[in-house]
Amino acid sequence: MNIQSIKAFNDNYIWLISTNEGNLVIDPGESEPVRDYMLQKQLQLTDILITHHHYDHVGGILDLREDINGRIFGPNNSQIEGLDVSVTEGETIQSCGIDFQILEIPGHTLDHIAYFAADTSQPRLFCGDTLFSAGCGRVFEGTAQQMYASLEKLKVLPSNTLVYCAHEYTLANLKFAQVVEPQNLQISAHIEVCEQQRNNDLPTLPNTLEAEKKINPFLRCAEVELRESLVNQMNNALTASDVEVFQYLRAWKDSF
Ligand SMILES: [Zn+2]
Repeated sequence: MNIQSIKAFNDNYIWLISTNEGNLVIDPGESEPVRDYMLQKQLQLTDILITHHHYDHVGGILDLREDINGRIFGPNNSQIEGLDVSVTEGETIQSCGIDFQILEIPGHTLDHIAYFAADTSQPRLFCGDTLFSAGCGRVFEGTAQQMYASLEKLKVLPSNTLVYCAHEYTLANLKFAQVVEPQNLQISAHIEVCEQQRNNDLPTLPNTLEAEKKINPFLRCAEVELRESLVNQMNNALTASDVEVFQYLRAWKDSF
């Protein structure tokens, strides 16, 4: 299996997975960059997988429909135009010989799903705009409670899971994470790594879930270290519920 990122818009990644059985893309918000890449590499597009309805994830569907010889998969509780197969929680779909487990993860949008490929040499998660490296998506349609539950659902996947997010937001997220937890040395170490990658125009993704649990404040709401670093601004930081800490961090990040 080979995985490549195709850049779209300012900071979107359209992930392309190639196997012996075909090529699939996840969240083609634009058709042109996908077409150009496929043409350049002489590849035929098989399937399209969609995580949620935002335009920068679905904008290329109707165009690319003409190019594929497979199907377009997406969430079932959604208004997305052009889907062939609607999927729900717990279902497993097969695309290009890969089994993807469907996880419903509402919060950023209500229709948001993730595709989890467990049955490979290394587990891989395609989580759209829900989990970012060192951050998470904004809560547009769901509640903080829903978003937090969705992140917790992803957090319990195998720790060696590679996380493929849909945006290059890592350095900005890490700067926030560092302000939240100035004592966390893993964050500063990871900033150095990611700065190198960005200077070489490389994606900072994927990262492992194990590493995310050490640097991503939104996966660390229950951690004493994180809560202790919040006490000066959030009075009840040590006694608040995990969701309350999440909500506090998300509101802070929204205006950061
Ligand atoms: Zn989105």
